[in-house]
Amino acid sequence: MLVVQNMKHTIRQEKMDNILYNFIYSLIKSYEDSQNRVELIEGFSRALSLFFPMCNVSIYLMDEFSYCLKDFTKPWENLALDEKNSEIKKYFDNFLVKKSNYEIFGNYIYFPIVQRNKTLGIVEVKSSKLIDKDNDFISILPLITAQVSMIISTLKNKEQIKLTSKFHQTLKNIAQITQTQYELDYILPIMGEMIDGFVSEHLIYIFIKNKNKKEYKLIWPNKCSDSKIYEYLERITPKSDTIIERDGKMGIFPLIIDSKPYGAIVAYNHFDKITTREIEYLEEIKAQAQSTLTRAKSYIEVLEHATLDALTGYNNRHQFEKRLKETTNTAKRQNSPLCCIMSDIDFFKKVNDTYGHAVGDCVLKTVAKTIKKELRAEDIPSRYGGEEFIFLLPNTKIDEARIVAQRLRLAVENKKINIEEYKIEGTKEISVTISIGVCEFNKIKDKEPQMLYEHADSALYEAKESGRNRVVIYKDI
Ligand code: GH3
Ligand code: MG
Ligand code: MG
Repeated sequence: MLVVQNMKHTIRQEKMDNILYNFIYSLIKSYEDSQNRVELIEGFSRALSLFFPMCNVSIYLMDEFSYCLKDFTKPWENLALDEKNSEIKKYFDNFLVKKSNYEIFGNYIYFPIVQRNKTLGIVEVKSSKLIDKDNDFISILPLITAQVSMIISTLKNKEQIKLTSKFHQTLKNIAQITQTQYELDYILPIMGEMIDGFVSEHLIYIFIKNKNKKEYKLIWPNKCSDSKIYEYLERITPKSDTIIERDGKMGIFPLIIDSKPYGAIVAYNHFDKITTREIEYLEEIKAQAQSTLTRAKSYIEVLEHATLDALTGYNNRHQFEKRLKETTNTAKRQNSPLCCIMSDIDFFKKVNDTYGHAVGDCVLKTVAKTIKKELRAEDIPSRYGGEEFIFLLPNTKIDEARIVAQRLRLAVENKKINIEEYKIEGTKEISVTISIGVCEFNKIKDKEPQMLYEHADSALYEAKESGRNRVVIYKDI
C-alpha cells in the first residue's frame, strides 16, 4: 500500500517537476523574446495558460513617488481614482504586511512581486474559469513568484540603466551642438528634440523671451495648447531656480544667461507629479543647455566677422546675404542670367533619431562635400541653416541649372556615406537623398534679391510635397 502511495507520489512529483520546468522555461523565454513590456505580459499569459487556459495577465507596480499602483504596460495612466485599483490595493496591502502569498477572488488570482523582501507590485491572473484552491499552480506558487519577480526587477534595472545612459548621451549631445551649429534658431529646436527623446513621459516645451516685447515665445515644438504655462513663465526672475507648479505636475527650468532670463525649458505631465529624479535630470540638462547657449551667443559675436560655416566650409548665412546682394546686382547690371538652387536633405531627422547626431553631422559634411565636387568654381555654395544648402549660380540659365540640380541630386543619392567610425551595429554605410527647388532671377517680376531664394524655397517645398528626391523649377509651379 505504502509502496503504491509512494509511487503515485513520485509520479505526481515527476509530473510537477516537468510542468514546472516547462513553465519556467517558457517564462524565461518570454522575457528573452519580448521587445517591450506589452510583449512581456503577452509572454507571461502564454506561459501561465499552462495552468489557466485562456488567462489574462496584468501587472501593477507600486510607484514610489505617487504611492499608487501603476499598470505595468501603461505607467503614465493614473489608476489612483479607479475603483478597480482600490480593490487591487487591498490585496497589495495584504501582501505588504505578509499576511498572504496569494489571494483568490472568483476567477482571479493575485500574487505579489517581491524583491529582497520588498513588495514591488502585484500580478493579476484572470482565468476563464473559477480558480480552484487545489490547482497545481498553488503548490508551486512560491517558485513562480520568485521567477516572475526576478524577471520584472531585472527588466526594471535594465530600463533604468538604459535611461541613465540615454541621459548622459543627451547631455553630451547638447554640449556638442555648437560644434556644428551656432544659430539659435536651429540650436533650440535640436535641443528640444534631444530632451524630448530622453524624457518621453512629459511634454517638453522650450520658450525664449522676446527681447522687445518681453513676452515668452514658444520655440519648440510648434504648438503649446496650454495657455496657463505662459502665466507661470512670467514669474521667472534673474534669480529664479526651478519652479514646480500645478500640484507638482509641471516643472519650469529657467534659462538664465548673463544674469538675465533668457528662456525656459518646461516639462509637463498631465497625470503624474514630476519625480525628484526627473527634476535632477532636467536640472542638469538645463545647466548644460545654458552653457551651450552662452557659448553659441559668444560664437555668434565672434562669427559676425567670419564668413564660413565650420562644419561644411560653405559660406554661412550672413555671408550668403552679402553674396546674394552682389550677384543680383551684377545680374541686373550686366543683364546676365543667375539661378538659385536650394536643397534640403530628405528625412534627415530620421538619420539623427536612428544613428545619433554625430552621424547626422557626418552626413551633412559628406553631402556638402559631394555637392561641392559637382559645382563650378564660380558657383557660390552656402549653408542656409540646419541641413538646407543654397547655391547661387552666376551666368547660368534655368535649363542649365536644371541639369546641374539633377546632377547634384543624383550625386547625393549615389553616395555611400561611410559611418564605420561611429560603430553602429550592423550599419557600415548609409545614403540619403535631397529635394531641390530652383529659381531663375530673370523670372522674378520685381527683381527683389530675397525673392530669389523665397521662390527657390517654395519650389523646394513643392519637391517635398510631390514625393522628395526630386527637382522642381519655380516657373513650373
Ligand atoms: P524633410 O524630408 O521634410 O526635410 O524631413 P526632415 O526630417 O529632414 O525634416 P526637417 O527638414 O524639418 O528636419 C531637419 C532636421 O535636421 C531637424 C534637426 O534635428 C536636424 N538638424 C539641423 N541642423 C543639424 C545639425 O547641424 N546637425 C545635425 N546632426 N542635425 C541637424
Ligand atoms: Mg530642413
Ligand atoms: Mg530635411
